[in-house]
Amino acid sequence: MIEADVIVVGAGPAGSTVALNLAPTRRVIMIERLPDIPPRIGESLVPAARRLFADMGLWRSFEAEPHSPCYGNRSVWGSNEAVDNDFLRDLDGHGWHLDRGRFDAWLRVAAVSRGARLFAPAQLADIERSGETWRVSVTTPTGMVGMTARFLIDAGGRAAPIARRLGARRRRHDRLVCGWIHGAASGSKGLTFIEAVEDGWWYSAPLPNERRVVAFHTDADLASAHIARDRQEMLRRATSAAHLSELLESVAFAPDQVSGFTAAHSSHLAPCMGDGWLAAGDAAINFDPLSSQGLFNAMYTGLAAAEAADRYLSESIDGLSDYERSITGIRTAYAERLAFWYGTETRWKEGAFWRRRVDESARATHAPRR
Ligand SMILES: Cc1cc2nc3c(=O)[nH]c(=O)nc-3n(C[C@H](O)[C@H](O)[C@H](O)COP(=O)(O)OP(=O)(O)OC[C@H]3O[C@@H](n4cnc5c(N)ncnc54)[C@H](O)[C@@H]3O)c2cc1C
Repeated sequence: MIEADVIVVGAGPAGSTVALNLAPTRRVIMIERLPDIPPRIGESLVPAARRLFADMGLWRSFEAEPHSPCYGNRSVWGSNEAVDNDFLRDLDGHGWHLDRGRFDAWLRVAAVSRGARLFAPAQLADIERSGETWRVSVTTPTGMVGMTARFLIDAGGRAAPIARRLGARRRRHDRLVCGWIHGAASGSKGLTFIEAVEDGWWYSAPLPNERRVVAFHTDADLASAHIARDRQEMLRRATSAAHLSELLESVAFAPDQVSGFTAAHSSHLAPCMGDGWLAAGDAAINFDPLSSQGLFNAMYTGLAAAEAADRYLSESIDGLSDYERSITGIRTAYAERLAFWYGTETRWKEGAFWRRRVDESARATHAPRR
């Protein structure tokens, strides 16, 4: 039986952030189900992340990583014109287009180098509480490992594997899904691209090492979901989005076999904490990719979760309720901003994808502010 203070389930950006902030003063175990970090979408990092890196003592190390700068967004949204919104006036400077696998691995290494103990791959078997102590057992390639801790953190992403076992439920706000494809590309660095179309919206961004991602977002229950599911169909349709096709041609985009289909809806966990546990990152609240806020939120809530756990272990009773209030605040602000942005695209307001969002936007505009 290994004794720890905190067990963190999930070693993605949120879990690693929790662990690297707690490990210098607490005994931390991270449990990760996958042996390696798979290719995935989610690579635009907002400029404000610089402040979090500085707060966590990671800025110099991050700066030395080979990610590409992102100087702004180009969007075809609300009209047929492409509009650039640069970060020139952003006090935090530019954002980044990350090599996502490298970024997740870098955060994980930071946690381990500060003293966190990582079990990967490890499958959760049992979780039970006796008095003030959680007993967790995991299956690893070398056999079953038992561990105890006073605090548990669910950083297992949208699946929220711990919280759901403890009775929390996910509240889904919409049915957005995403199909994505990576490929080789040259030139046109520094801008994230978005183009709204009748059934949803396209996204493309340059990646480090002369690569690019192209993605299509729509709703799972609409006929257009088959475009997101079928990479050949997606590549065919990309050529009919006026501005996207021009962009892909200009960078000689050559798709490779790295692609995927994933849920992309907004949702939150209710409740996001309980006695002796809390959820951080996507497990607590997750965002529409339009916002580009997921990674920032994973690190922000990861840091806040580490502080709340530390206070709990120091016998302070306020840490968890402060954490819950902070998540509720994020949720309210996010819902208002998202409804606003979808509400600015009115060209297809009678089409199923946009009608839902325009209705939602009207509801948010007329709802009393809390
Ligand atoms: C289509 C799409 C595009 C996106 N684009 C962007 C973007 O451009 N910019 C941005 O900032 N964000 C983006 N995001 C969001 C971003 O990827 C997530 O917000 C971020 O990955 C959340 O980090 P996390 O650590 O909370 O969860 P995850 O990254 O999902 O990590 C969870 C970890 O927990 C592990 N795990 C799960 N279950 C278990 C279990 N039972 N036991 C042990 N381990 C477990 C998983 O293997 C994983 O390693 C996008 C998301 C989607 C869906």
